[in-house]
Amino acid sequence: MTEMPETSAGRPSAPLGPGDWPVRWIHGSPPGPGPRDPPVQVHRYDAKTFILRQSKDVSFEAPFLYLFFGHDRALLVDSGAIADPRRCPLRSTVDGLVRAWRSDHPRSEYPLVVAHTHGHGDHVAGDSQFADRPNTRVVGRDASAVREYFGLSDGPAAVATLDLGGRPIEVLAIPGHHPASIALYDRRTGLLLTGDTVCPGRLYVADMPAFRSSMARLVGFARTHPVSAVVGGHIEMTARPGIDYPIGARYQPHERILPMDPGRLDAILEGAHLAAKGPGVYVFPDFHIYHGPCTGPALWSIARGKVGNLRYRIVRGLHRVV
Ligand SMILES: [Zn+2]
Repeated sequence: MTEMPETSAGRPSAPLGPGDWPVRWIHGSPPGPGPRDPPVQVHRYDAKTFILRQSKDVSFEAPFLYLFFGHDRALLVDSGAIADPRRCPLRSTVDGLVRAWRSDHPRSEYPLVVAHTHGHGDHVAGDSQFADRPNTRVVGRDASAVREYFGLSDGPAAVATLDLGGRPIEVLAIPGHHPASIALYDRRTGLLLTGDTVCPGRLYVADMPAFRSSMARLVGFARTHPVSAVVGGHIEMTARPGIDYPIGARYQPHERILPMDPGRLDAILEGAHLAAKGPGVYVFPDFHIYHGPCTGPALWSIARGKVGNLRYRIVRGLHRVV
C-alpha cells in the first residue's frame, strides 16, 4: 500500500519541502508463517522528524508517536501503550535515534522532552521507560500540568510555543476527547498533531461543547497556518469509506492512510454539530464520532473484534503447527 498525502486547495501551502509519506505501516503480523512485525516501526519522515508506530502484536491500539529534533533539544510526542521495555523497547529505540542525530550534530548537552497529546493510557504508558533517563523532562498528564509546562493561559484562544532550537512547536489546548488534549503544530514541516481528537478512526467525545469549540479552533488555525497534513494517534478506519475495524482488532491489512487533509477538520466540525443533538455513533467516510459512552455499539464492536482475533489466532496457530 502506498500512502500519499491528500491535497488541500485554497489553503496556505506547506512551509518547507514535503516529508516522506510513501510508507507501509506495520498493521499486525500477517496470519501466516512470514516474519512478525517489529515491536515499534520507525519511519524517517525527514532528517529531523521521525514517526513511530507500535505494533499490533504488542497492543491493538498501535499508536503513532512523533519525534522532532531541534538544535537544542528533542521532543517525543506520546510514549505509547506499553510500559515494559521487554515488550516494546521504546526508550532504546529513541536513544538510538538521538545518538545517531547527535553523531551528526555534536552537542555537549541534548535534552529530551516527552509530552503527550492527551493523558489516556495508550499515549502515556511508556513514560516509565524515560523516568531515569538523564537530561529528560517527562511532562505531566493532567490539564494543569500540561498548561503549566507549556505556559498555556486559560483563554480558549491561547497558543503557546515550545522552541526546540530553531524549531518552534506551537501548542493549542483542544479539550473534548480528554481534558488535557493538545494539538502541536510544527512550522518546519507543517504537520499538525492532533492525537485522538482528529484521526482516521473513532473520535470519542467525552465533552461535546468543549470538543466543538476545540474543532472550531483547529479549523481556524488551519486556515491561517500552512498545514501540510493533520496526523493523529491511530488508524481505525479501513480504506473503504465509513467502515472501521472492530475495537481491539489485531490485524488491519487494508487501512486508510494516516495523514488527513486540513479540509477534514471542517468535516469533523460539521459532524460534531450534527452529533451534538444527542449521544450515539455518527458515521462519516473518514471517521466516526462516538458521542457519549455508546455502550451498545462499543460492546458489539468489541465482540466482533474478539471473533476476528480468534480467527486470526487460529490461522496463525495452524501455520505454527505446519
Ligand atoms: Zn489513543
